[in-house]
Amino acid sequence: MPVMPYTCHYCDKESDNAKTITLYNEEGLEDQLKILCDSCYADWLLSLNG
Ligand SMILES: [Zn+2]
Repeated sequence: MPVMPYTCHYCDKESDNAKTITLYNEEGLEDQLKILCDSCYADWLLSLNG
């Protein structure tokens, strides 16, 4: 199977070393899988920590 490059949800860069995260809406009811590159994933982790 060919390897599909992932496209980062935040910066639109393609990455073959992507991370997936789960986002919830304001009510915390729905979740969505998002794909992030390494640097955006690091930023997201920092944002979780406040
Ligand atoms: Zn990114």
